[in-house]
This record gives sequence, structure tokens and C-alpha cells, in this order.
Amino acid sequence: MFKIGVGPSSSHTVGPMVAALEFRKLVTNTPLPPIEAALRLQVELYGSLSLTGRGHATDGAVCAGLTGLHPRNSAVDDIWGAMPQLNENPLLTIGEFNIHFRPEDDFHWHSWKMDGEPLPHPNTMRFRLYAGTVVILQQVIVSVGGGFVEPVDENTGQRISTMGVGDESIVLPFPYNTAQEFVNQCTISELAPWEIIIANQRALGLDEPKLREQLSAILDTMNDSIDRGINTDGILPGGLNVRRRAKDLHHQMTSGKTPSWAGNDLRPSVYAVAVNEENAAGGRVVTAPTNGSSGIIPSVWRVLQENNDLSRKVLEDGLMVASVIGALVKTHASISGAEVGCQGEVGTSCAMAAGGAVSMLGGTPNQIEQAAEIGIEHHLGMTCDPIKGLVQIPCIERNAMGAVKALNATALSLASDGAHMVSLDRVLQVMKETGLDMNMKYKETATGGLALG
Ligand code: SF4
Repeated sequence: MFKIGVGPSSSHTVGPMVAALEFRKLVTNTPLPPIEAALRLQVELYGSLSLTGRGHATDGAVCAGLTGLHPRNSAVDDIWGAMPQLNENPLLTIGEFNIHFRPEDDFHWHSWKMDGEPLPHPNTMRFRLYAGTVVILQQVIVSVGGGFVEPVDENTGQRISTMGVGDESIVLPFPYNTAQEFVNQCTISELAPWEIIIANQRALGLDEPKLREQLSAILDTMNDSIDRGINTDGILPGGLNVRRRAKDLHHQMTSGKTPSWAGNDLRPSVYAVAVNEENAAGGRVVTAPTNGSSGIIPSVWRVLQENNDLSRKVLEDGLMVASVIGALVKTHASISGAEVGCQGEVGTSCAMAAGGAVSMLGGTPNQIEQAAEIGIEHHLGMTCDPIKGLVQIPCIERNAMGAVKALNATALSLASDGAHMVSLDRVLQVMKETGLDMNMKYKETATGGLALG
């Protein structure tokens, strides 16, 4: 669920960059016949990737991936420098091949059909390598949200899910497929929720020290994105002229200038805005579960850490619990705005934050499940309609609202005994159905709602 990457979008920036890296591997690993003609690459973007790809820097991200840069650890300036460089010098070197690729000419922006057929996913791209005029290698890849990508089988047209695919001979000590099953595993085993996750990860080959090392890097990146956000001002890129507000808000908050009617705690909003401004500027953030919703969890974790002096271990444990909730949404509904609207991004993140927060504050598995359910229930039906396809309006403020709601869900849940009427499993079903019924113009296409101005 948590991937360190760059903004502004996990499905439209990080995913396409990862897809380009995958295509690089394919070129290197596929035995190709002797080639005499000049090689040229074309990248076709379809559906939501085409409609909002320019605002989400999809083209720049693909260029970075094609040159071998990785969203996790390549320098941000190198990533965004790749496309201008290729426009100036349109030569990609992949393995033993020199390939002509000039972004201005070789990106093709299409609509909702590929070769006359419906798309396998709203975020579809196709890489085509030509020798002269003949296609010698091609791959369709879909970006399914949260920076995850799946190749599409050329013969069957089916997506090849990489999630959950592994050695089927491995038996997890605590298997579960639903939220209720997860709660049951905790109850029966009398283990803490994160201990269940640690045991399962160990069975999959990831021991606890290595797991905690990864969680620690995620926490550091989240905290760094807050700190950069509250120390940076200026105008966000993309042409909307949106002014960064986190620095000024933070200054007001820390210098006692917050108006009395606002109470004394703007921190959840300010920290969430800080991270999402970093995201909108193309900076380094963590998908949680997506880039568009990357501000909620860092904000809630920072606030709880400041209020309760939580240890590093507790913060890591909370991330594990949040990741279970995100994975359940991904399995039974979707974390992609292009598939189900913003309920899948900000709604999911709010649920992850609420469930993780309850666990960090000592709540029971039932209370965790309840908090996560509240977090999603009150985002059901929320559309995705970013103005100009930029992850700025409504996304940045929406993270502030998500952080506040997550803390409210935490308080409501901890104040009760965890018994409630609507289960998390039921609300995920409803999220999926609502997403399927939602008009396409409200699913990250910038063709409806606020995006129309
Ligand atoms: S409106 Fe929500 S789903 Fe759409 S891009 Fe913004 S944060 Fe993501």
C-alpha cells in the first residue's frame, strides 16, 4: 500500500513510470530477431491517462521510466529533466539497442477504445517498438491505482494480476480475505493485529527487521514531506496559479495567530495540505494508498505522535494495520479514482488512517474495523473531478478534510465498544457498486463537476 515515489499521482505518474521500467525490462529480456531497420518507440495513452495525463505529468513520468529512473530513489530533478532531454536528444539506450523516441512526436493520446475494442482498464497504455514500420515488440499495461501496474495478456486480453500472486505452496499462518476474517484471526489468536501481519509476512519471506526497515523509511519520507511542505511557499506548477498555503497556515498556527473560533488545532489540516502541496509540485511523497490521498496518513500519524509521544514501533505497527485496510479495499472495491472516484482514494485513506490510529491508541480489533468503516462510509459516492486534470483542486483541501474525518472516526470508535450496524465488508461492496454506477465524467477524466470550472 505504501510506495515511496513522486507526485502528483500514483495511478497517472508513479504507475506509468513503473510501467515504462517494466517495458525496458521486456526489451532487454526478449530475444529479438536480427534488426536492420532503425528502431523507434511509440507510447499510446488511453482513457483517463489520455484525458488527464498532461496535468498528471504522465508523459514526463514515462520518459523518466524509459531512461531507467525509479520513482523511489532517483533524484526528483533528474526525473522531471528526462522529458526535456529526450525532446532535445531523442535517443534511448536500452540494453544493446539505440531507440529513437522523441516525446513531442511519439506520445499518442487516445480515447476510450483500443483497436476498436473497449479498454481493459480506464488507465491503459501501450508501448510499441518498431523496426522501420513493423511492430516487433509491444505490451499493453494498465495502471490500477496506488502505483501498481498489471500487464495485459496479448492473446486473451486479460489483465495479469501481480497482487497476491506468489508461491501457492506457502500457507499463511493467519489467512484472511475479509475484514471480518481479519478480526476473527486477531480474536482467536489473541495476537495484536500487527503481530498477525508480521507472522504472515515472515511466512512470505520478509522477516520483521527487514519489514520494520521498510516501514521506517516510509515514516521518514512521510515526515520529510510534511517538513518540506510547511517550509515552502510559491505557486504550484500546471497553470492554475494555485498558491501554496501550508507554510503560511503553519506560521499562523505556531505564532498564536489562529483565530479563537478555530479552536487550537489546525494541525491535521495543515500537515495534510503540506504533503499534498509537495505532491502537486512533483515532490517525493508516499502513496497512502495513492498520491492524491498522500497527505492524510502522514498528518494523522504526526498529530498522534505529537499528542501522545508514540514510539517509533507503535507508529510502524499502525502503518501495518492501515495497510491491511487498504489491501482489503483494493481487493474488494478499488483504490483508483479512475475506477470508483475519489471515495476510492481519499475515502480509503481516511479509513486506513482511522483504523491505524485506533490501533496505535490501543483500540480493539472490532474498534479498528468500526473506525475504518466510518472512514469510508462518509466518503461514499465522492467523485473525482480535478480541475485541469491537476492534483490540486479539490485534492489538496480534500486531504485536510480526510485527516479531520479520520480523527473523528477514531474518536467515535474509541468511545464505543466496537459494535455497529454496517460492517467494513458491506461498505466495501457498496463502494464498488457506487463506483460502477458513477458516470465516467466523475472518474478522473476532468470532464465533469468542478473540472468544468
Ligand atoms: S479528486 Fe480525489 S481521486 Fe481525484 S485526483 Fe484528486 S485526490 Fe485523486
